[in-house]
Amino acid sequence: MRSDAWQRIAHDALALLLASSCPGCDRGGTLLCDDCRMLLRSDPHDTCTPQGRAVHAALRYGGVPARAIRRLKEEGATMLSWPLGAALRPVLQAQGSEALIVPVPTSRVAFRRRGYRVPELLIRRTGLTAHRVLVPARRTQDQRELGRAARARNVAGSMRARVHGRGAVVIVDDVVTTGATLDEAARALRAAGFTPVCAVALAATPRLHDTANS
Ligand SMILES: [Zn+2]
Repeated sequence: MRSDAWQRIAHDALALLLASSCPGCDRGGTLLCDDCRMLLRSDPHDTCTPQGRAVHAALRYGGVPARAIRRLKEEGATMLSWPLGAALRPVLQAQGSEALIVPVPTSRVAFRRRGYRVPELLIRRTGLTAHRVLVPARRTQDQRELGRAARARNVAGSMRARVHGRGAVVIVDDVVTTGATLDEAARALRAAGFTPVCAVALAATPRLHDTANS
């Protein structure tokens, strides 16, 4: 077995020990209780980015889904990629099999901290293939600290494609807030010859439609 496979197993085992309570309701002795598992079922809905790109989201970011995603992203609970990947699966599969599936790149800092790339892990859990076409071109500030206009400035020019290519691409991210990151991903893909057709997110915040700059 390859060492990165062992590393993944070690991550999962550690996650199992750490996440000994349900991320949704803190009930002990379970990685995810049945009630909260129901709330992670796919609830497909559409929204769009600042530049009008369609975003198909599997979950509404808030409550139990938000807590489960935070535990996956910030607390190493990679086991949660299974139910979350199951929620993502129908939305990603609905985009057809022709388009290349390209995850939003993970910063080097985030990858070092977690040891895994969340969008890629989720795509893998759907049984589809992630193509790591996009890479970070420069460092960015944590988007969570920024408002809408600042987010767009923060990510502008922050990605590049490793390869040139052709054909339709579906961009995938875990959580979509303003959609500025997805617009930047689309820009970088277009610059390399690809045709980004839409984006798919595990979860979208309900504020995505707001046009206010607050
Ligand atoms: Zn629960």
